[in-house]
Amino acid sequence: MAFVITDSCRYEKAAECVGICPVDCIQEGKDQYFIDPNVCIDCGACVAACPVDAIVDEHDLPDDQEEQLEKAENFFG
Ligand code: SF4
Repeated sequence: MAFVITDSCRYEKAAECVGICPVDCIQEGKDQYFIDPNVCIDCGACVAACPVDAIVDEHDLPDDQEEQLEKAENFFG
């Protein structure tokens, strides 16, 4: 299980989440940031840090954001 950055991050890229993550698993992509789902420890610390509420638990991902988890998985290979 992991937290996922939705497409609200696209072109926003506030980056407030990056320094907060205790396991350093948030990295910058071309259009948005991504959370490595294999490293995220589900602490939830990044959620409140995001000014555009882009970060959600993968189980709460809206249907139209499902591809964001795939994008994150692909990003980290
Ligand atoms: Fe990092 Fe915690 Fe956010 Fe996962 S939930 S990305 S471990 S700050």
